[in-house]
Amino acid sequence: MFDINTLIRKNIKELEPYSSARDEFQGKASVYLDANENPFPNGINRYPDPLQQELKNKIGSIKPINPNRIFLGNGSDEAIDLVIRAFCEPGLDNIVSIKPTYGMYKVCANINNIEYRDVLLTNDFLLDTDALLKKTDNHSKIIFLCSPNNPTGNSLSVESIERTVSCFNGIVVLDEAYIDFSQQKSFLEKLATFPNLVILQTFSKAWGMAGIRLGMAFASEEIIGTLNKIKYPYNINILTQEKALEQLSLSTEKVRSNVSQIIQERKWLYDNLLQLGIVKHLYSSDANFILAKVVDARKIYNYLCDKEIIVRDRSNVALCEGCLRITVGTTDENKTLVRALQQVEIYD
Ligand SMILES: *Cc1c(COP(=O)(O)O)cnc(C)c1O
Repeated sequence: MFDINTLIRKNIKELEPYSSARDEFQGKASVYLDANENPFPNGINRYPDPLQQELKNKIGSIKPINPNRIFLGNGSDEAIDLVIRAFCEPGLDNIVSIKPTYGMYKVCANINNIEYRDVLLTNDFLLDTDALLKKTDNHSKIIFLCSPNNPTGNSLSVESIERTVSCFNGIVVLDEAYIDFSQQKSFLEKLATFPNLVILQTFSKAWGMAGIRLGMAFASEEIIGTLNKIKYPYNINILTQEKALEQLSLSTEKVRSNVSQIIQERKWLYDNLLQLGIVKHLYSSDANFILAKVVDARKIYNYLCDKEIIVRDRSNVALCEGCLRITVGTTDENKTLVRALQQVEIYD
């Protein structure tokens, strides 16, 4: 039986968390003299709600999730860091993940002095669950999976994710940053089945709010409680909370139409890139970017830079040799890119 209490670090379990003024009094009052704030109103003179209840309720009305199973972080990066700090003992425990994938899992592990192990995806970028599980030992506390995966763009199979979550006796973090662009369904509705699953989503991609730094983690109430216990008290500032509420109220339809436009543009970009002589292979994408194998990635990257078009050079990444990662832009941006690539001349 999976028991969260045996997984949480001892010092975290025993931690007496900081109790803020807003933790100790939560109702509505007319005079607030408890937090040493400046009393003159300017819209931001008060501390924000430390648990972002209104925003979580709003998210709960849009996604199939109970608000008490939501953690909000200063970007997904905060959630990644906190999950590591909650469960991994520095210098002792380890994390297992896939390769290639999003770089922050490894960086956060390194910052926290946690050993990071990874297993190569197959040549078609799929997860070898057996190889992954074989990398784990008694000190493996977290497995990080990313689906759709960055930078490969494909989704991992539902079966391979499910088998990982059910066979591993630790936390599985499933990063769904690109789920809104995918054919595949989110694991959100399966959360109740898996007490060791943490799902990450973000407002940075489909929701178009990378600038406000807001990431979500969905998990059991116990896991969410642990993250809340160790986060900075006021981790999501008032401007971010208000902007997110505003956007969520006015634009679920708008978000849906933006996403379907990006998916259409992805198809256009795919078809048009495929026509180019410099493109050797395009990997199919379930995300808002395309991984393209080209004849001379570094040269084409530099050529595009000269034209003030910036893509991501992933040619030094395992299994992505010779590849550029291209984000799907607006119709005009995508046309500009393709036009520039039509004119590239590679003669060695
Ligand atoms: C972009 C991205 C995120 C989002 O990170 P934020 O900190 O929320 O902006 C998370 N995971 C992956 C794999 C990403 O590519």
